[in-house]
Amino acid sequence: MTFSDDEIERYARHLVLAEIGGPGQQRLKAARVAIVGLGGVGSPAALYLAAAGVGALRLIDDDAVALSNLQRQILFTSDDLDRCKVQAAADRLDALNPHVEIEDAPERLTADNAAWLLEGCDLVLDGTDDFATRFAVSDACVAAGKPLVSGALGRWSGQVGVFSGRPCYRCLVPEAPPDAETCARVGVVGALAGVVGAMAALEAIKLITGAGEPLAGRLLLYDGLAGTARTVRVAADPTCPACAPA
Ligand SMILES: [Zn+2]
Repeated sequence: MTFSDDEIERYARHLVLAEIGGPGQQRLKAARVAIVGLGGVGSPAALYLAAAGVGALRLIDDDAVALSNLQRQILFTSDDLDRCKVQAAADRLDALNPHVEIEDAPERLTADNAAWLLEGCDLVLDGTDDFATRFAVSDACVAAGKPLVSGALGRWSGQVGVFSGRPCYRCLVPEAPPDAETCARVGVVGALAGVVGAMAALEAIKLITGAGEPLAGRLLLYDGLAGTARTVRVAADPTCPACAPA
């Protein structure tokens, strides 16, 4: 796999990094990443992964762009209102980096279609905010042996985790809380979505290039109001229905 003059200049700041360099940039170009949910987390993550030169991005979301999205979903502009999110995103990402192949899947991911929607992807980034979808994504990733980068946020705080085999997302969240909070109900600071989405993209880049220590088996908790972050271990649940040995 070779790079054009445009790509060499475009990725110059990656190419000089010891942890990425030419081999890491080639791995990025060879990678196919699925982004589930083009919301607060998925928007900045998609922008940074396209800018970074990930070879193919599969965008999975069945929503249209709403006015209340624009406070934090920086992938979209006022001109995109009512457009299908994956199509508006495809245009924006293609304008940012024409070297990236964009696959648009304007579908709602469910337990029934997850394996099919994620097929052929090397890594999955989940930024959705409902537990049914999160469980479906996690179970499909465990079953297919795909690493999962998960980002979540609400109000002023967020979390990012990497799940690669065991422990899985279900070990962390065994079942949906009865009063699950959504950003629509409790609110969220727009800039926090940038923090969490960019951290999720960074973890994806680390996993693809082999740089550093991925957040596997750990959860990074960011408190925006306090301006602090901490990392906690995620324990493997011995009775996890998804990843515990039979
Ligand atoms: Zn598990």
